[in-house]
Amino acid sequence: MQDWPLLISRVIDHAAREHGDREVISRSVEGPMHRITYREVRARALQCAQRLERDGVKLGDRVATLAWNTWRHLECWYGITGVGAVYHTVNPRLFDDQIVYIMNHAEDRILFLDLTFIPLMERLADRLPTVERFIVLTDAAHMPQTTLKNAVAYETWLAEADGDFGWREFDENTAAGMCYTSGTTGNPKGVVYSHRSNILHSMMAVAPDCLNLSSRDVAMPVVPLFHANGWSFAFSGPMAGATMVMPGAKLDGPSVYELLETLNVTCTAAVPTVWLGLLAYLEQTGKPLTSLKRVVIGGSACPRAMTEKFERNYGVQVLHAWGMTEMSPLGTVCVIKQDYVGLEGDALYDIKMKQGVAPFGVEMKITDDAGLLLPRDGKTFGRLKVRGPAVSKSYFRGEGGQILDEEGWFDTGDVATIDPHGYMQITDRAKDVIKSGGEWISSIDLENLAVGHPDVAEAAVIGIAHPKWDERPLLIIVPKPDVTPDKARILAFMEGRIAKWWMPDDVVFVPEIPHTATGKIQKMALRDRFKDYRFE
Ligand code: ADP
Repeated sequence: MQDWPLLISRVIDHAAREHGDREVISRSVEGPMHRITYREVRARALQCAQRLERDGVKLGDRVATLAWNTWRHLECWYGITGVGAVYHTVNPRLFDDQIVYIMNHAEDRILFLDLTFIPLMERLADRLPTVERFIVLTDAAHMPQTTLKNAVAYETWLAEADGDFGWREFDENTAAGMCYTSGTTGNPKGVVYSHRSNILHSMMAVAPDCLNLSSRDVAMPVVPLFHANGWSFAFSGPMAGATMVMPGAKLDGPSVYELLETLNVTCTAAVPTVWLGLLAYLEQTGKPLTSLKRVVIGGSACPRAMTEKFERNYGVQVLHAWGMTEMSPLGTVCVIKQDYVGLEGDALYDIKMKQGVAPFGVEMKITDDAGLLLPRDGKTFGRLKVRGPAVSKSYFRGEGGQILDEEGWFDTGDVATIDPHGYMQITDRAKDVIKSGGEWISSIDLENLAVGHPDVAEAAVIGIAHPKWDERPLLIIVPKPDVTPDKARILAFMEGRIAKWWMPDDVVFVPEIPHTATGKIQKMALRDRFKDYRFE
C-alpha cells in the first residue's frame, strides 16, 4: 500500500475537494454572522501558511492562538500546521500568571488573538519576550489602536499573500498542536499532539459509536478550540464534511439557542455548565429544540437530571463523554451497545450516567494501587489507565518525567469501575475520593444526586477529617436563585438512593463554588476554604 503520511493538510484538502460548498457559519466576534465554504477556508489557510513563512515561521515553531471558535481561528489551525508549525491554544480563562507561564514555556513566536483579548494581552505583553508579533483576528475597519508589538489586522496581514503555495510535507509524527492542562498540582503541563495522532483521533471521533458525524450533520462545537484540542471538531467536522457552526464569544443560553434553531444544528458539544444555561433558558421560555439530535457532554460528569431533561423533554440524545487533554481528548462515549438495547426508564439512565465505552484506538483497564489488574464487574473501583495512538507519552520538555509505566499505560488519575460490557464509570479523581473507614466514597455520585434536587444549582462534595472514620463527606451547595434551601429536605431526598454510610454528614450553603479555567469545580480551593471545618 501507499505511503500516505497522515498530515492535517489532507483533511482540509479533502473537505474542499469532496465537500467544497459545505459551509462554516460563525458568529463573528465583531457581531454579525459570517459564512464561508470549506473551499474558501482551504484557500485562506494556504494564504495564512504562506504569510506565516514570510514572517519566518518554520517547522516546529509554536504559534499561539487566544481566540473564540470562528472561521478565522479554524483557518489559523490549518495555516499553522500547513507549514509544520505548532498551534498552541491559550485558554483565556487561565490566570494572568499561568498565561505568562505557558506562553513563555512554549516560546510562542506569534499570537493570533481576538479583539476581546487585546486588553488582556496589553497587560501581559511585557512579560512575553518570545512573542514577535500580535495578529488581531479582525479586518482593518475594526482594528483598534493598540500598543501590542507589530500588531496588524489579520485580514490586512493575510491579503499580503496570494495563496499560491503548497502545503509543506514532513513526517506524520511531527508536532501539530499543543494544549496545556490546567495543572491542579504544580505548573500547567504541555500536551503535544502530532499530525498522526490528530488524524487517527479524528477518524475515531467521527465513527457511529463515537460522535457519529456525517456530511448530513450541522455540527456546533460550543466547546472552545482552546479546551482540550476542541474535542476534535476542527478536524472531525471537515473530515466528515459536516456543516460547522462556530459560536464565537457568546456562550450563554439565549445565544446558543438562537444558533441551534436558526442554523438547524444537529450535533453540538460542551461542558455541563453550558447546558445548564441552555436548559434554564428553555424552561423559562417554554421553547422547543426542533433540529438538535445529539449533544455531547463531557469535561466533568453529566448530572442525571440533565440527561433526563434533554432526552425526555426535548428528544435530544445525550452522548456522555469522558476524556483528557492528554488523550486528544476523547476517551469514552456512552452509546447504547447491543447488550443494553431495549433498556428503558431508570435502568436505561443508570447506564447513561456512565462515561461509556472505549472506541477503537483507546485501551483501558483498572488496577489497584500496586498495579494489579482489577475485574470488569461494574463494582470494583480502581485507578483508570489508558493506552493508544492519541494518548500522550510525555509532556512538553519532559516536564513531570516518565508518565508511562513499562507496558506503556498512562495513569489518568481517575478512579473508575468497568462493567462486564465495557462501560466505564468514573467514581472520582484519585485525589478527590473520600476515604471513610478504609472504604472509598465517590464524591461525584453524591454531587450528581444532590443536583437532582430542584433547589440545588450546583453541588460539590469534599472529605472532612474525622476522628473515627478518617474522612466524612461534606456537601456544599449553591442554591437556585430565589429559593430558601433546607438542609433536611435535601438530605431526605438523597436518603435511600445511596448507601447509608455515604450520606453526607452535613450540608453547607454558599453563594458560589470556585471553578477552574475549564469549568471544573476547584476541589483544592474548597478543601482549603473548609480546612478548619469540623462536624458538630
Ligand atoms: P482540564 O482541567 O485542563 O480541562 P482535562 O480536560 O484534561 O483538563 O481534564 C480531564 C479530567 O476531567 C479527567 O481526568 C476527569 O477527571 C475529568 N472528566 C472529563 N470528562 C468527565 C466526565 N464525563 N465525567 C467525569 N469526569 C470527567
